[in-house]
Amino acid sequence: MSGIQTFTMIKPVAVKNNYIGPILHMINEAGFRIKAMKFTHLTKQQAMVFYSVHEGKSFFEDLTSFMSSGPIVAAILEKDNAVADFRQLIGATDPAKAEQGTIRKLYAESMSHNAVHGSDSDENAIIESDFFFSKMERY
Ligand code: UDP
Ligand code: MG
Repeated sequence: MSGIQTFTMIKPVAVKNNYIGPILHMINEAGFRIKAMKFTHLTKQQAMVFYSVHEGKSFFEDLTSFMSSGPIVAAILEKDNAVADFRQLIGATDPAKAEQGTIRKLYAESMSHNAVHGSDSDENAIIESDFFFSKMERY
């Protein structure tokens, strides 16, 4: 059982394809409460810091260029078992392997352009939330 908080981003490709509304609808329907939210645009440097856990990997350059290529929606979501339940809602990293009905199955274009981010642990959910939001921006 994980904690009550996870962190998500609607990635540039999904924003560009006008999927903010449908994705937020699925998040609401799955029982998550939006605790914080912003529409913003990462710099390349910020994307490199956010994804620093992946530094050195083959996809790091493409990932950070893509994540700074256009606006994103960042949000903190609350629900019991938030991290695991959200990973289930979004589906596998590679949309070809994602379950039917998951956000990535429905809205991703490819592994690199996979529509949404979801934290992989309670610890990272806190680190990622703190990267984007101050205490005053949480409700
Ligand atoms: N990624 C990629 N190629 C890979 C692995 C990952 O382009 O071989 C991208 C993909 O957009 C993924 C992000 O890097 O969402 C972070 O990778 P991670 O393994 O953390 O996947 P996630 O937690 O997002 O499912
Ligand atoms: Mg990850």
